[in-house]
Amino acid sequence: EQITEPTSQQIIDENRDYTLFSWSVQNAANPVHLKRAEGVYFWDGDDNRWLDFSSQLINMNVGHQHPKVLNAIKKQVDELCFAGPSFATEPRGTLGKKLAEVTGLAKSFFTLGGSEANENAIKIARLYTGRNKIITRYRSYHGATMGSMTASGDPRRWPVEPGMPGVVRAFDPYCYRCPFGQKVESCHRECVSHIEEIIRMEGPDNIAAILVEGITGSNGLLIPPDDYYPKLRALCDRYGILLIDDEVMSGFGRTGMWLATQHYGIKPDIVTAAKGLTSGYMPLGTVIVSAPIAEYFETHMLYGGLTYSGHPVSCAAANANLAVYEEESIFENVETQGAYLTHRLNSIEQRFACVGDVRSIGLFSVIELVKDKVTREPLAPFNGTSPEMGKLAAYLKSQHLYAFTRFNMLWVCPPLIITQEQLGNGLDIIEEGLRIVDATLAS
Ligand code: PLP
Repeated sequence: EQITEPTSQQIIDENRDYTLFSWSVQNAANPVHLKRAEGVYFWDGDDNRWLDFSSQLINMNVGHQHPKVLNAIKKQVDELCFAGPSFATEPRGTLGKKLAEVTGLAKSFFTLGGSEANENAIKIARLYTGRNKIITRYRSYHGATMGSMTASGDPRRWPVEPGMPGVVRAFDPYCYRCPFGQKVESCHRECVSHIEEIIRMEGPDNIAAILVEGITGSNGLLIPPDDYYPKLRALCDRYGILLIDDEVMSGFGRTGMWLATQHYGIKPDIVTAAKGLTSGYMPLGTVIVSAPIAEYFETHMLYGGLTYSGHPVSCAAANANLAVYEEESIFENVETQGAYLTHRLNSIEQRFACVGDVRSIGLFSVIELVKDKVTREPLAPFNGTSPEMGKLAAYLKSQHLYAFTRFNMLWVCPPLIITQEQLGNGLDIIEEGLRIVDATLAS
């Protein structure tokens, strides 16, 4: 009997008919059939080659189908595919040690992804401090499980509220649209000092932690001024509050360092990571805690666990992925290509009327679109879209450039192995898209 392969349309239909798509009104979900992939490219069911300018969900840092990571996974599957979380395994210990080395922290608690990592970081901070409240920022995303979603500031939390009690929010270091109406050259870093006022009003002894994204990702790549983190660190120390650094998106090479906060010369008390930890090859997240916190749990119960905590195949994938970063000088490439990206983005900002601001660090970047450069009126409203943004996204898709757009922003976050030529090709397509937006605005 002849076995016939399903067509791409059948695959898409089955996905649409029997599975639910994230963050979508289901009848508007329009998935591409992703058939195969390699490096910075993937191919759809019609054999169109797409340039992946989003590293899927800003997680495939070493690109698609890296042979060293694939081989490590295959080897681990053959050797030992699973061990319960109370057992010791080689890949788990190796990974824990490596993570302590690169972060300067002490011990890891492994999860399956970023949401669970933040969930557990909050729990650990509460257990360790005996305090309850968590300060987070409005323009932030920390995950989609109940606690992490409530901890997020972004509108994705609205439908699940009231969610988890005890979250208090602060404003962001969003210099292009400073919530305090200041300019970065002359401000007094009100983005930090107002948090001290919040601490006083909430009661310093009630606050367990300040949870922030190392560099805010999906809310617009907000890069804080140089002294932001030193000031925030000092504030935490003054009140015995833990600093939890969510590096799920900004960590592991995306900015050219292991952690985005390493650019600022500070050390958090807890780091959460996922995405770039395995480059997405296997699900894995981690909560990495400082020595004093690790010490505390020597004599106190860690109230937490997951069946798949420390999954050997996930840990093996992470070990191989982290080795690729070093063996293939990936962070050096981020610096080189990041400099080229910044140069191109600056030129884009100058040449296109619809570009209000560009922000980049390493291969982590955003183009913020406006209707008018002077008034800075966004091209789409906060938490909304517009015909112009829709047109831009449709154009990029028609050119088989896969890039993330949201509200009035367009992200450029390719795999960290990208070459200058590949980066240039994608940016040329984006320029063409911006030309169309400019023409629409002018007409
Ligand atoms: N934290 C940040 C900064 C993120 O960007 C994300 C995902 O995009 C998460 C947490 C949640 O991670 P996950 O989707 O792996 O649960």
